[in-house]
Amino acid sequence: MFCRLKAVFAGSALLAVLGVSAAAASQSEYQIYGSYNMGCMSGSVQLPAKGAHYVTQQWGQGRSFAHPMMIDYLHKFIQRAADAGLPAVVIGDLSQRRGGPYAGSNHASHMIGLDVDIPFGFAADLPQKKRTTPAQFYLVKNGRLTANFDEQRVKLIYLAAQDERVERIFVSPRIKEGMCRIFGNAPDNDWLGKLRPWFGHRAHMHVRLRCPADSPYCKTQAAVPEGTGCGEELQSWFLPPDPKAAPAAPRKKVKPVMPEQCRLILGQTG
Ligand SMILES: [Zn+2]
Repeated sequence: MFCRLKAVFAGSALLAVLGVSAAAASQSEYQIYGSYNMGCMSGSVQLPAKGAHYVTQQWGQGRSFAHPMMIDYLHKFIQRAADAGLPAVVIGDLSQRRGGPYAGSNHASHMIGLDVDIPFGFAADLPQKKRTTPAQFYLVKNGRLTANFDEQRVKLIYLAAQDERVERIFVSPRIKEGMCRIFGNAPDNDWLGKLRPWFGHRAHMHVRLRCPADSPYCKTQAAVPEGTGCGEELQSWFLPPDPKAAPAAPRKKVKPVMPEQCRLILGQTG
């Protein structure tokens, strides 16, 4: 009895240190702390290196962990791709086992198990050993869409967006433009708003999920603007800078701070 009481006390003491109320903790053993670009997770699930209709792209070790909601999203996305007759897909980087910053990579986010890179290509085109991105994966070259922006790739992007849990998907501005050309006048095209034009992202899309409801310490970001985002905002990416425009006041960069809980979580070994 004493031992059990002690265990209960030790457990609640740890939770108190982590800043987790008993009510929140009882909701899920998988908790996210912080934001997409500065945070961590306690508890994660690893996506197996390969499975029915997909392979993972192995850039480095230990990058295939995520919140279980992301793993569920991926399995459903892979199934939609299979149902749509697409070849086996490729899944890129997720997060490290406890999230947090990647050493030796240029990922600014991928820290809380809710981000995934999905290459614009299929398993059969992956090189066997070399860690390179095949030329067939590039949908944009020299600022223009390439012939690789074909029906299969369009389907792949469309299918990735068809899930309520998707918060946004980063793609090259030219890819967004291409998708707007195809779906801009279609009914029910609000999902186009989730496609966010961003630098790079010519050979892969970056899918980000919303904070799960049972992760109260997951910091969400400002919502994407209403509508499809196919108009002025997209066009602004292609305009040369206005030489008459007053130079923008230097914006104070607020450096995100790692939540205190992550110091404990990321400090664990094993
Ligand atoms: Zn990414």
